[in-house]
Amino acid sequence: MTSTGRLWFAEEGEDWAVIQGRRAQQLPGFLRQLRDRSALYADRLSGRDPAAAGSLEGLAGLPFTTKDDLRDGQAEPAEDQVLGLQQAVPTSAIEQVISSSGTTGNPVYFGLTRRDRETWTEAIGAFYATAGIGPGSVAGLSTGMPIVAGGVPYADGIRNAGGALVWFGGQTTPRMVTTIERLRVNTLVATASFVTMFAEKIEEVLGHPARELGVRTIISGGEPGMGLPDVRAAVMEKWGAERISEVMGLGDVMPGLWAECEAGTGMHFTAVRDVLVELIDPATGDQLPWETGAEGELVYTTIRREATPVLRFRSRDHVVITGMECSCGRKTPKIRCIGRTDDMLIYKAMNVFPTALREVALGAAPGEVHEVVKVRKESADQVRFDEAIPLQVQPLGPLDEAQESSLRQRIEAAVRERLRVRVAVELVEPGTFTITGDKNSLVTTGPPVAPRPGAQVHADERRTTRSGS
Ligand SMILES: [Zn+2]
Repeated sequence: MTSTGRLWFAEEGEDWAVIQGRRAQQLPGFLRQLRDRSALYADRLSGRDPAAAGSLEGLAGLPFTTKDDLRDGQAEPAEDQVLGLQQAVPTSAIEQVISSSGTTGNPVYFGLTRRDRETWTEAIGAFYATAGIGPGSVAGLSTGMPIVAGGVPYADGIRNAGGALVWFGGQTTPRMVTTIERLRVNTLVATASFVTMFAEKIEEVLGHPARELGVRTIISGGEPGMGLPDVRAAVMEKWGAERISEVMGLGDVMPGLWAECEAGTGMHFTAVRDVLVELIDPATGDQLPWETGAEGELVYTTIRREATPVLRFRSRDHVVITGMECSCGRKTPKIRCIGRTDDMLIYKAMNVFPTALREVALGAAPGEVHEVVKVRKESADQVRFDEAIPLQVQPLGPLDEAQESSLRQRIEAAVRERLRVRVAVELVEPGTFTITGDKNSLVTTGPPVAPRPGAQVHADERRTTRSGS
């Protein structure tokens, strides 16, 4: 009922190399505009020949753009450049301004011309159609702030995909709950932590479980989590949902870039018309081939963006390609996000992500441990581990000494076998971790937890920090 069963852009069914080649042909024109209109890129592209960059190989020789470049460019905005050095149109041509969430520093602002807004609405329509929104969807949007990428742009995209938009976010919890119930919202668009927290609130406010509400499709992004099989299963059970679609986007580039189709095996690239995407090795910056199993960082070039375009924007999102073909008919690559490049740890010269450790830990003890699992660092900036990585795991209920020992051994063995990494599991008291309180925290710092049954962990020892913020 809520799936359109068609491709939004016919190109999504074409070979990926063909789509990429076509977008690369647009690069010389885009580069000329960047050089002529944006102070940031006039500087970066001086002395370069745009005509030489009409291919993916040509793109590889051009400089990257980082979040810091954009933030620094906005440090001293001028009247005709309110969006900083990146701005590539006069302020009078800007129709809307979007803000980054600011979770990793001062917010950065992005502009949209009328054409930008129209292309965004079209691309985000494709994104939501892929994720399961269409005629018949009554789509509840939980975002509380219109100015962020998940605000107005998401609202425009949901309507364009054919859904009935119910923008319930930003109200009091009881009012949000009753809005969902009254309007028979059947599709929920929210972050992973909101989805979990909200199910509990519904039970509190209405006195009956969330699964009785009739939400059948959950579209969730903004943080890692929904790619993990155990998290998905728990969320589907709580809501009685039939489908979970993981999604990913970036305000700096396009709020809707990747969305999971009905096959449920990874997120397809959906911004095929507007954005050129590369996969690179984060350490060397070299392009990597698009093939199943490849892992690397995503880098984006906004070939059609007018107001605040970016060239080779380093997303810091580290992904694995889960497929290049799909039963849905799309030939765009499918990915799962493994974690932030900034969160990457080094164990004896091997790269390891806290999210990967969590996934294996949860898989080794299904239904026995809390879905928040944390790496404990000696200090917030520790990246390198030469000894077993301390991994904090919270059992769901009280365990005796033998059970604790068995749980620790199973997780340590599974991590060693799957990731070739040694971890030292530290069990924390039930109730230490909560989904809402620990959103995005994959890392904690502090002294070791004494590995004995009934060990007390005091609140002041649980200082949590988000690596990279
Ligand atoms: Zn698919």
